[in-house]
Amino acid sequence: MKEKPRVRFAPSPTGYLHIGGLRTALYNFLYAKKKGGDYFLRIEDTDQKRIVPDAIAKLIESLKWAGVMPEEGVFAGKSGDISERGKYGPYIQSKRLNIYQEYAHELVEKGKAYYCFCTPERLDSLRAVQEQAKLAPAYDKLCRKDVSLKEAKKRIAGGEKYVVRFDVPETGETGFTDAVRGKISFANKNLDDFVILKSDGYPTYHLAHVIDDHLMKTSLVFRGEEWLPSTPKHILMFQAFGWEAPEYAHLCVILNKTTKRKLSKRDGDVSVEDFTKKGYLPEAVINFIALLGWNPKTEKEIFSLEELIEEFDLSKLNKSGAIFDREKLDWMNGIYTREKKDAELVEPSRPYLGEDNDRLSDEYLEKIITVEKERMKKLSDIKEAAKIYLEEPVYEKNLLVWKKMDKKEILTSLQKSLEVMGEAEEKNWDLVNLKNKLMAVADPKNRGALLWPLRVALTGKEKSPSPWEIAWVVGKKESVKRIKKAISLTEN
Ligand code: GLU
Repeated sequence: MKEKPRVRFAPSPTGYLHIGGLRTALYNFLYAKKKGGDYFLRIEDTDQKRIVPDAIAKLIESLKWAGVMPEEGVFAGKSGDISERGKYGPYIQSKRLNIYQEYAHELVEKGKAYYCFCTPERLDSLRAVQEQAKLAPAYDKLCRKDVSLKEAKKRIAGGEKYVVRFDVPETGETGFTDAVRGKISFANKNLDDFVILKSDGYPTYHLAHVIDDHLMKTSLVFRGEEWLPSTPKHILMFQAFGWEAPEYAHLCVILNKTTKRKLSKRDGDVSVEDFTKKGYLPEAVINFIALLGWNPKTEKEIFSLEELIEEFDLSKLNKSGAIFDREKLDWMNGIYTREKKDAELVEPSRPYLGEDNDRLSDEYLEKIITVEKERMKKLSDIKEAAKIYLEEPVYEKNLLVWKKMDKKEILTSLQKSLEVMGEAEEKNWDLVNLKNKLMAVADPKNRGALLWPLRVALTGKEKSPSPWEIAWVVGKKESVKRIKKAISLTEN
């Protein structure tokens, strides 16, 4: 019987989830859903220098926000407490050190790896000599050739520090088929005898990856392109253990739009948290990153998660770098924002309002959203957008002038608006009614003469939504008050 497909997302908890990491998680999620397979979360925290407190909980929070949290592996509770679920645990690598050590020693016993006692000083001078001779830096197998296993064990028993290195064959080729790039082959002579177990007893990524993905029964590994050159090392290790290697899909790099370099923290917002904070909708971020390196091969660009699952196919993954186009993300986010019902955006908008949050009832906030939604690129834009409704307009009286109107004309215009607003009944205070009433008294050939001064009176701004929209939101009393203020400003 064919075994169930199993994929995993295996981030290092470095403090935030890079948008590229979210893409890897998403592809794992889509693949597992499409194939009816398992998808689990493993935490790769063996590089102790890079560990950041709370990083695991934060990472999980981002996965949950995006809706691509696995159902096996590592979990975080509301208060950040970490737990695990699944039959292949522990899923946090720092809890698996004994497993890595055991297997590293097993490889040594099998003659596929060896203990190395070279000091950092010796390795430095070796590198310097190689550099001078314009050779690629590589370990020279000294401990492989000169130190017998028996002697090595004696030195270890005597307390000497050591690492375990993999013994890469000096000839031959190691190849594999990548799901994105097809057949790839590397000459073994170009591969260094890499370290698999460090002197502090921690595994390197190479060892941990091979052991974990074997023991956890991973069938396909999605990971960044930067791991491609290491893959032959992994294949050799799988062979040395006598295990079957998983399939690999190395995902293309994500590039900065202007520099065309790999997108990094220096380029501004690159972590999922940055986008959450700015009020991007998860649906938009997911849709956007799905298309970074995966091409549906149609014109269609807007995909729901269900559609992505349906369409996802390894054969549609791209080799060449994907450009991270922020304008496109904004455009997509706008689409998803407008698709939502106004009432649905009330709660999600609140965190972005800061101190204004308490001043806004749900009803009032919903009205602001109704008017402003078209222009909002992201939820955090609500803060700026809400200002005209919450703050009394401040402006120079000249701004009230439409074309060449004189003082008398402006006053007449504002009086007319005041009458319309004064006469409109509160119970009919709705967008259609207000618009009709204003249009009815405006000169069809010169509507601006009525609408411009009124709009400025209501907002104090050169650009804003229409006067009936503003009036509808702020209500009758406030509208009348603002127009009266404009009249007195013009009179004096
Ligand atoms: N911990 C590795 C990283 O964050 C994961 C690579 C992999 O998925 O195997 O790059």
